Amino acid sequence: MCAAPTPNSPPLAGGPSGPAALRPLLDTVLTALHDGAVTRGGPLPAGGPDAVAARLREALGEAIPDTGTGADAALHTLVHTLAAGAADPADPLCAAHLHTPPLALATAADLAASALNPSMDSWDQAPAASALEALVTQALAAQVYPRARPDAPLPDALVTTGGTEANQLALLLARERHGAVQTVVGANAHHSFHRATWLLGLPEPVTVPTPNGTLDPVALDEALTDLHGPLLVAATAGTTDTGSIDPLPAIADLCAAHGADLHIDAAYGGPLLFSDTHRTLVTGLDRARTVTLDLHKLGWQPAAAGLLAVRDAADLTALTHTADYLNADDDTEAGLPDLLGRSLRTTRRPDILKTAVTLRALGRTGLGALVDQCCRLAQHLADLVDKAPGLELYERPTLTTVLFRPTDADDNAVAAIRRRLLTEGRAVLGRAHEDGRLWLKATLLNPHAGPGDLDTLITLVEGGTDR
Ligand SMILES: *Cc1c(COP(=O)(O)O)cnc(C)c1O
Repeated sequence: MCAAPTPNSPPLAGGPSGPAALRPLLDTVLTALHDGAVTRGGPLPAGGPDAVAARLREALGEAIPDTGTGADAALHTLVHTLAAGAADPADPLCAAHLHTPPLALATAADLAASALNPSMDSWDQAPAASALEALVTQALAAQVYPRARPDAPLPDALVTTGGTEANQLALLLARERHGAVQTVVGANAHHSFHRATWLLGLPEPVTVPTPNGTLDPVALDEALTDLHGPLLVAATAGTTDTGSIDPLPAIADLCAAHGADLHIDAAYGGPLLFSDTHRTLVTGLDRARTVTLDLHKLGWQPAAAGLLAVRDAADLTALTHTADYLNADDDTEAGLPDLLGRSLRTTRRPDILKTAVTLRALGRTGLGALVDQCCRLAQHLADLVDKAPGLELYERPTLTTVLFRPTDADDNAVAAIRRRLLTEGRAVLGRAHEDGRLWLKATLLNPHAGPGDLDTLITLVEGGTDR
């Protein structure tokens, strides 16, 4: 017989007694998060990589001690150190990347996902979670692909780790439809397309130059005219560097004329769909065969929260795969849902839970209001740059990205400003090459940022010490 568990075996998170075990641990975690943020006192820790690594090394001590410290000490020390050393997107001056400040409610939902730990590769590991995923992915797919006619194909969406995996899956589905498909991208497209073709054994993407920041229909037409064999055009709705949106309807028309498939990478711009004010910016999204979405950007989810929407769920049969222990044919015939074909991963977190909670809590218009707020912030920052005599604006923002630089500075000076602010722990700004020059990039995803924060950002870039 197996021995009874020892009294000091660490408690589990699930079951009726899990929450009681979690409560004091969470208290420790929440205190450490608070104190760590106060210790940091800004958007990121000061001192640069060596100083941060040294503080971490000291706090960690031995990573694998012979005898453990116990839960409370380990949680307190490491969570505090991580928080004190974080680049925290909840700070309005942490605005380099599409690195979102997660909503508290989504983060709370994610805790439940960890406690219950459903695994999305078979029904017997995730009975309710798999049903929830089916309903919410269909609802999200319907946002992308509203069905005009009852006989239109049924759309669906797969949950991914992000835009990279979603783009990869889109190329894989195209390869399964056509064989060695030629991908055509704009120079403004995400780097993941190049890796995806490399991984999938496809020809390298043909890159159409985008001197004006977006895929030019005339240049695309020429490229498609010159190419032969099966083609997949990947357009972008919200580029990573500037937030620009390719002219989707014109690109869709060209794809139709040339018999090319269309994929749209809307990792950044997809959530414009939730906004009654801004959704026309992504008109034409539904003309793509597949659409990448990323709710860990303009969706305020903790990573990971990617999706690949497909216009026709039948396209997903290419991913069908059987493993006897997960989806035996007789189990499937007896009515157990077959989940293995919904991802290339096997064990998979129920990432849909936090998204489902967010969608239900805020509603479409609630999410749309957050999108609108971040778009307004970007316009305001652009106004401030316009008014600052020493600064130059790259262009009026389309989404929530603002590119600017000091007038007359050379690229080295621009890069040095970014590194100075990082090292001082004062602001996290990104960088982007456009127009043959280097620009500072502010990606505004924090709906709680205010005009005063943007004033501070301008002052810091101008060399002041407002903070
Ligand atoms: C962020 C981004 C991606 C990659 O998404 P990950 O979630 O980081 O994998 C792909 N395409 C675009 C346009 C993006 O902005």
